[in-house]
Amino acid sequence: MGRVGGRVCLVTGAARGIGRAIGEALLDEGADVCFADIDADRAGEVAETNRQRAAEGGGRVMSCGVDVTNRDAVRAMIEAVVGEFGRLDVKFNNAGVNKPMNFLDVTEDNWNFIMGVNGLGVLIGMQEAANQMITQGHGGKIINTASIASRQGFDNVAPYCASKWAVVSLTQSGARDLAKHGITVTGFAPGVVHTEMWDSVDRDLMEIGASEEPGQAMEEFASDILRGRVAKPEDITGTTTFLASPESDYMTGQIVMIDGGMTLV
Ligand code: NAD
Repeated sequence: MGRVGGRVCLVTGAARGIGRAIGEALLDEGADVCFADIDADRAGEVAETNRQRAAEGGGRVMSCGVDVTNRDAVRAMIEAVVGEFGRLDVKFNNAGVNKPMNFLDVTEDNWNFIMGVNGLGVLIGMQEAANQMITQGHGGKIINTASIASRQGFDNVAPYCASKWAVVSLTQSGARDLAKHGITVTGFAPGVVHTEMWDSVDRDLMEIGASEEPGQAMEEFASDILRGRVAKPEDITGTTTFLASPESDYMTGQIVMIDGGMTLV
């Protein structure tokens, strides 16, 4: 039996990048995994691609389309998972967005978009997962995706930083409130992970004049990383599988930094 064998895990933002890697690593360790994303088609393709992997791990795989800011859609997603796999044990609130703007240019729309997905989306995801886990009556794990931007404010991405600080607060508040139900709430904070998000951040930073050529922004960020390189999504998954496994049962309210030694907080 793998490290998360028999556990039913739901990962949002799982059509690509970090979320996809989290789900695939869970499959390798025996979990049943639902890959959920606003891009339902791509999430479906990821699930199909991983059918053999799931069979080899001893688990099952499914996908679901969801907008994490829409409570009805989040409820429907959880119902679909419970309908297919029987219950929900572990919920990853991983979907996130970023859209850099110079600090003085940040608009209400930019703020609301980013806070909506990264802040409100995490709150709704935590509440609805917890309601399901409370009904089941045997606890569970909620795991949120924070960031180095949860620990330091960076220029050009102020709403993103605010939203990721919110993830830390929600993790702490949720841990305190849900402990009585045997539900733990933890998070992990990646540094610079080369995904499609960074590719679009890189383009946006050039557009607003904050960098001059493709790759420059990521390279400048990476210069401070003690491990000497940016991360791949697979650098994150040892920790995420640990947080989903019984090995982390005594942890709650904590955020684990996985940034190659960039922020040292
Ligand atoms: P990504 O853009 O590659 O993937 C994010 C996924 O979330 C996409 O598949 C997207 O379709 C989905 N998504 C966006 N809005 C959604 C919504 N409203 N409902 C459901 N799904 C939605 O990004 P990534 O780099 O894999 O990032 C994953 C998480 O990790 C995010 O929370 C991000 O903020 C965080 N993070 C990323 C980095 C990094 O360097 N890449 C660093 C720290 C934290």
